[in-house]
Amino acid sequence: MEHQHQQKRWKRADLLIIGILLLAALLSAVFLWLQSGSGDDRIAVIAVSGETVREINLTQNKATETFSLEGAGSHTVTFSLEGSRICFVDAQCPDKVCQNTGWVEEPGQSAVCLPFETSLRVYLASEWTDH
Ligand SMILES: [Zn+2]
Repeated sequence: MEHQHQQKRWKRADLLIIGILLLAALLSAVFLWLQSGSGDDRIAVIAVSGETVREINLTQNKATETFSLEGAGSHTVTFSLEGSRICFVDAQCPDKVCQNTGWVEEPGQSAVCLPFETSLRVYLASEWTDH
């Protein structure tokens, strides 16, 4: 009887400690999230034939860079990254629709190269990580 009583008291104390730890973990997670603000970062996602091949954080990026990757059918697709914006350049596709789309930088904006099955789309980091 005495033993059972003691166990009950221990359980209550344990629950309290677990509760405090959970609350502390939650608070620090919220704090970290607020501090980093990463949920609002804009992520440019390049996909070839529906498969993500490159992700670039446009909000954090300060560099200017031109890079190429292989689109569908081994065609080379070249992109130009300039700070927080990105676009197709020097596309070898017949229609040049992707190239003519110009810069994309806002969430929801996209440029697509249909002949080479290559897409470029900007997401909010908070939306993208849900994928
Ligand atoms: Zn194109």
